[in-house]
Amino acid sequence: MTGNRLENKVAVVTGGGSGIGRETCLLFAEEGATVVVVDRYESDAQNTVDLIAKQGGPQAISAIADVSSEKDIAALAKEVKNKFNKVDILVNNAGVRVFGPVTEADEETWQFIFDVNLRAVGYCCKHFIPIMSESGGGSIVNVSSANGVVGRPGMGLYDATKAGVLALTRSMACDHAGEQLRVNAILPGPTLTDYHIKRAEAAGKELDLGLTKSHPEGPGILKRQGTPRELAYGILFLASDEASYVTGACLNVDGGLSALAQRN
Ligand code: ADP
Repeated sequence: MTGNRLENKVAVVTGGGSGIGRETCLLFAEEGATVVVVDRYESDAQNTVDLIAKQGGPQAISAIADVSSEKDIAALAKEVKNKFNKVDILVNNAGVRVFGPVTEADEETWQFIFDVNLRAVGYCCKHFIPIMSESGGGSIVNVSSANGVVGRPGMGLYDATKAGVLALTRSMACDHAGEQLRVNAILPGPTLTDYHIKRAEAAGKELDLGLTKSHPEGPGILKRQGTPRELAYGILFLASDEASYVTGACLNVDGGLSALAQRN
């Protein structure tokens, strides 16, 4: 444990089994939180819990749930309430990507990505907000994407879900401020997660994230990808009491990618 910003807090992180979600779980544990690592893959969630144990963190548990199933989320919320009797922080991070233009997208694909990336955020909020409110409020951080505000070829469906997350964030911030519940979003830019590293390896290519082709302006003003840790720090800020006056905010952590794209 390196800090105490989240001491005595219970945090639920969806998609905690890899990438930005895993790093967020590790950082939260370093800051003293008890972490519920939620993922659809048991071994990934358990690996995160094991990593937290290795770094000598406080209590962490894994929980298997498909965030796009309201039944799973209702059961998860019940389980967490029974175990800890409160939730202070919810990070809606689980997500999937699909590629291709709208002209090639079938009904199943639309359904799949909207269920996981957008409806699931609503389900998690619906079932965790009552628990958070009962214990005096808390902080919800929704992981959107720079793609929620910047267009990218072949990413229309994904981008639409991430823009939806921003809209949901602002409206929920209005709805729940009275319960001492803050709702914010983070917009990651290109981030060097295992997912991208493995994709590049599989393609036998150097890691590029397709940036030169799809973002002619390159990877932002800082001209590099972000690290999962840099993203986790943004999420930590919004989750912590240091952001006690911040709600309805959409924080870009993208190396200046969106600033460049919006220059006109
Ligand atoms: P990023 O690179 O943005 O961090 P990842 O693909 O590495 O994204 O991580 C997304 C996480 O969300 C993964 O651990 C994945 O298993 C999880 N996830 C995806 N879909 C679901 C779902 N339906 N229910 C629960 N977790 C999910």
